[in-house]
Amino acid sequence: MEPSRDRISPLFSEARLQARIKELGAELTRDYAGKDLVVVGLLNGVYPFFADLTRAMELDFDVSFMQAASYGGGTESTGEVIIHKDMDTSIRGRHCLVVEDIVDTGLTLNKIRHLLQDREPASLRIVALLNKPKRRRVEVTVDYVGFVIEDHFVVGYGLDLSGKFRNLPFVGIYDPEHA
Ligand code: 5GP
Repeated sequence: MEPSRDRISPLFSEARLQARIKELGAELTRDYAGKDLVVVGLLNGVYPFFADLTRAMELDFDVSFMQAASYGGGTESTGEVIIHKDMDTSIRGRHCLVVEDIVDTGLTLNKIRHLLQDREPASLRIVALLNKPKRRRVEVTVDYVGFVIEDHFVVGYGLDLSGKFRNLPFVGIYDPEHA
């Protein structure tokens, strides 16, 4: 069945997302003041959050992107994590902040964390807009979290279902009967 907007129920409005992102931005601005920072976004889902969060950080830093996938086309993780694109910036001896849209099983971030830790950054922290702790399959520390959510499949604000709905300005729950 084709993904349909009719099956989305709003969870976080655009205003609520933006207010929380301003708070996270202020916290990161305080925590990284005076530090040599590289902010790494995990594509594709992170793009709206990355743009809004980095603009809420009143600091100078480098940005870079990686792309990893642990999902097929549906709503369940395959468990296998593949790195499709590596970042093009060195993080050795520099502070590194990884930005993720949502942490679900933790498999993706666990792999990224180990990969980046081997490059010997001065520090490595993770910020995620959404965290689904009940679904965790491996332990991974998420240092900054926008919102903790229950075990829902969510779409919008970067999060897709079969490639659709990334452009919605809010986050909503997709009716699981039809996902
Ligand atoms: P993990 O490796 O933690 O299981 O999954 C991380 C990735 O799975 C996220 O970056 C995202 O692409 C995808 N994902 C996990 N939960 C959801 C969800 O509720 N909705 C959508 N659209 N993608 C999700």
